Amino acid sequence: MEYLYGLLFGTEPDTTDVDARHALHAKLDALPDRDAQIALTADELRLLKAEMRGTPPKRQHGGGDELFVRMRSDLEEDHDAKTADAVVDAYGASPLKPNPLAKRRPSPDLLQLRKAVQDAGPLHDLISERQLSSSVPKERRRTLETALSCVGEWGFDVWAVADAFQGDTLLAARAIVDAVVFEARGFRAASTSHLLRQVVAKMLASYQDVPYHNCLHGADVLQAMHALLNLSPSFDDALDDDVVLVTLLACLSHDVGHPGLTNNFLVETGHELAIRYNDASPLENMHAAVALNLAKPYLRTRPPEEQKGARALWIGLLLATMKEHSHQIYELERALSKATERGSTYEACAPAHHVPCLKIFIHACDVSNPAKPWAVYRRWTSLVMEEFWRQAELERERGLPLTVPRRGATDLAKFQLGFISFVRPLFAAADRIAGVEMGLPLRHIDATARRWQEEPSRVEEGTRE
Ligand code: AMP
Ligand code: ZN
Repeated sequence: MEYLYGLLFGTEPDTTDVDARHALHAKLDALPDRDAQIALTADELRLLKAEMRGTPPKRQHGGGDELFVRMRSDLEEDHDAKTADAVVDAYGASPLKPNPLAKRRPSPDLLQLRKAVQDAGPLHDLISERQLSSSVPKERRRTLETALSCVGEWGFDVWAVADAFQGDTLLAARAIVDAVVFEARGFRAASTSHLLRQVVAKMLASYQDVPYHNCLHGADVLQAMHALLNLSPSFDDALDDDVVLVTLLACLSHDVGHPGLTNNFLVETGHELAIRYNDASPLENMHAAVALNLAKPYLRTRPPEEQKGARALWIGLLLATMKEHSHQIYELERALSKATERGSTYEACAPAHHVPCLKIFIHACDVSNPAKPWAVYRRWTSLVMEEFWRQAELERERGLPLTVPRRGATDLAKFQLGFISFVRPLFAAADRIAGVEMGLPLRHIDATARRWQEEPSRVEEGTRE
């Protein structure tokens, strides 16, 4: 993971670091000619990349505002390969430790990497070229292809894809997005598809390497949306292609830049994001601002009269989050009851209901772990708990009140049953919309709940590694 982040984030190397350059060259020179497997650190890759490209010396970022300045200039200039991870640069990397899965990344083959860097145009293309050709050894390619062939299904096994890439979340996420957006949904044919690929690459690169809220979660929500629309074909058919595309991209970008910490933590600690947004939903505001900045080049390809609507839809979908959860259910139930009183039904296909239904859908996808097959759900749960536990450790270190579950002291079954009882009413209400089919997710939710109720050991996780 580190190596791709090194490439994508494009942090410029410190060219005065002669010792590091010498050490890197010694390491490269010691490699055998063929099939050289080498794990480079992010710093080493930056040096290598700089030498190949002859990049200028390191540029210091100038604080939070730099985020927007750099994004704008990067996007308006030429969408080149030097897109920096503006979020990390501007706000600093998350204080959480890197995702433990990331350690199991594949070692890049240096010779191939060199050749690819020299031959390739934009680095975004390099990723997709590389992902099937060199990142996935032959024996795992079949598993990957089998898993991706089910990308339209609700029971899609995201972990089969992640495992095929040995836990490299960026490559796995990229493969899933490609399979949905460019293959299954056919946006490959669009004249804007090259630009779209660049926007997608930037969105993926703008996720941080935290246990749960990393780019694989973004891709997972996108895949879940695709599958949920497939389960409700009449609603899917009623939507314009542009609306579907904006919806999928909103799913992909809904948590960009997430530091793996809650709004509450950011506010309590006076984090830069909390200051920027006056303590008001700093995460959601940041996700929307970053996502919409990244989306600009794509939005500009739309006719002017459509741009405003697409932007409004995108923002509306991004803000249909946890905070809106109860309100969303309340509003939907009210609309359903009104329709029943009139002796009719609330139809997803009615144009006026498209956006409200898509808001329900994106939020449902965001909290859909317990509505997935157990094995898929269980791994997401381990990661979300890991993220909570790390925050709890930071809270303890800083003497803050504990606001999230603590490692070694979590009654996981109880916690999950609580989450499930919070999530289920959303799916149940959505199932009452005419043209929406939530039977399968609801059956999974009930099966997941039953399993926790039967779980013999209640504190099964949370011991220190
Ligand atoms: P988001 O932060 O946008 O991903 O909002 C969804 C929220 O749902 C996450 O922040 C988590 O707090 C919560 N969540 C998702 N999956 C689980 C899970 N399996 N257990 C507990 N909380 C979860
Ligand atoms: Zn999310």
